Amino acid sequence: MEGKSNKNSDTQVAVVGAGLVGSLEACMLAQRGYDVHLYEYREDIRTLEHVPGRSINLAMSVRGRTALRHIGVEDSIIAHHAIPMRARMIHRPDGSTAAIPYNKDGQCIYSVGRRFVNEVLLTKAESFPNVTFHFQHRLTAMDITTRTMTFTNPTTEETNTRTADLIIGCDGAFSAVRKEMLKRANLNYSQNYIPHGYMELCIPADKHGEFAMPPNYLHIWPRGEYMMIALPNQDKSWTVTLFMPFNIFESLTSPQILMNFFQQNYPDAIPLIGEEKLVKDFFANKGLPMISVKCSPYHVGSSCLLLGDAAHAMVPFYGQGMNCGMEDCLVFDELLTKLDYDLSLVLPAYSAKRNPDAEAIVDLAMYNYVEMRDMVNSRWFLLRKKLDNFLNLIFPRSWVPLYTMVTFSREPYHMCIKKKQRQDKVLHCTSLAVLGTAVVGGVVLTWRSGSASDWLHKTFNFVVTAGRSAVPYLDHVTLY
Ligand SMILES: Cc1cc2nc3c(=O)[nH]c(=O)nc-3n(C[C@H](O)[C@H](O)[C@H](O)COP(=O)(O)OP(=O)(O)OC[C@H]3O[C@@H](n4cnc5c(N)ncnc54)[C@H](O)[C@@H]3O)c2cc1C
Repeated sequence: MEGKSNKNSDTQVAVVGAGLVGSLEACMLAQRGYDVHLYEYREDIRTLEHVPGRSINLAMSVRGRTALRHIGVEDSIIAHHAIPMRARMIHRPDGSTAAIPYNKDGQCIYSVGRRFVNEVLLTKAESFPNVTFHFQHRLTAMDITTRTMTFTNPTTEETNTRTADLIIGCDGAFSAVRKEMLKRANLNYSQNYIPHGYMELCIPADKHGEFAMPPNYLHIWPRGEYMMIALPNQDKSWTVTLFMPFNIFESLTSPQILMNFFQQNYPDAIPLIGEEKLVKDFFANKGLPMISVKCSPYHVGSSCLLLGDAAHAMVPFYGQGMNCGMEDCLVFDELLTKLDYDLSLVLPAYSAKRNPDAEAIVDLAMYNYVEMRDMVNSRWFLLRKKLDNFLNLIFPRSWVPLYTMVTFSREPYHMCIKKKQRQDKVLHCTSLAVLGTAVVGGVVLTWRSGSASDWLHKTFNFVVTAGRSAVPYLDHVTLY
């Protein structure tokens, strides 16, 4: 690979966590010649029959794909495994459906299996002679000053101590590395649990072994306070994720109450999941929490760094957690080469560059919850989408819808928000100008055709009616 460096072979890097981001980061560091040690709490998932954990499948888009391409595994994941989702398929309460394409150019997102992607990345990491795996190594303590880590074997409870020149925490939303870093001064941290939980259910393949719904869509059942989505799997089943407040989960205490709830909210999903399976799966699971994490900076000196969910866990409503984490690895890699592998420069530069973007997508993910849950049912929201697409058609370079920027480009996330705010301003001004022109036009017309009192009355009615129809529109355009 271009820019590959051998002078790094004396630098030992410990990557803690061999999930999606950690195993990718191990590959990127190996490409740069570092002596990489990958420590993972669990056993090697490639040897397990069943891998416990969250979200079976994920939506992958441009940022994740670009990172996979960087280590040469994009094809084995996208071309040979992923299922394209070209549009959202909205399921209304009356059972009717409507497709909303993601993008006028036909770009799509992909449903990928978490386990599959993780296994491809581990196998790729294993192919580098300078990567050493340490499974069943749970980080339980760390001394940043001496760069010493203590690991405990979760089965035997044995502990061992290791050192490294650089420790990279890729150990997820509840990061043990971050916990140790927080003991030091000057690290800001906040976490936020939302009142909603999620539960994964399954729509099996139909009796012919085929998809029970049109496969190239992300299916969404928006229901105000609740929402359900479904992503296709390779085996023709669907992973269905039910999002709702914990108190609703807790109120569904019997099969009858559950079925009434589904009859009322998701009647078309009942025959797809199957009544018996729905009851069995629902009561075998429980609603799981969703957390949003922000921290800053992401490094301590030249010894410690956080990537992925460890640095910026987000609620899953923009489908960007993994994509953003994978892009973290790309950004870090770009800075390594730019700053000639000087870790004392690269780590602070990484924090400074990445923090505004990571925080922007954490915020956007939270806002998108409103969009997916509620707005896809709103005609003003749909009108705004159409308007965005129309303006994008006329000004393909300067008017790019927010979702397109986030999902189908590598535009820094914070710039996506800035550009969207500019678009909102333009739309506000244009709406007001149109409204103003309409009012003046109305005044002139009514003045010509009636008496003064008649004129006043008609003008008043006109302004009220025009205002009423414009206000909801103005409200919603601010909500992206
Ligand atoms: C319901 C749901 C749906 C989602 N859908 C999407 C989506 O469609 N698209 C998308 O881009 N993102 C999605 N995400 C987000 C995505 O799952 C995460 O952003 C992604 O998994 C982050 O990867 P990571 O490697 O940083 O962390 P993780 O995947 O959490 O991996 C962390 C790894 O560290 C290991 N570990 C933990 N603690 C220790 C320790 N003390 N010592 C050693 N190892 C440790 C763990 O075993 C694990 O292997 C979704 C998340 C959820 C919850």
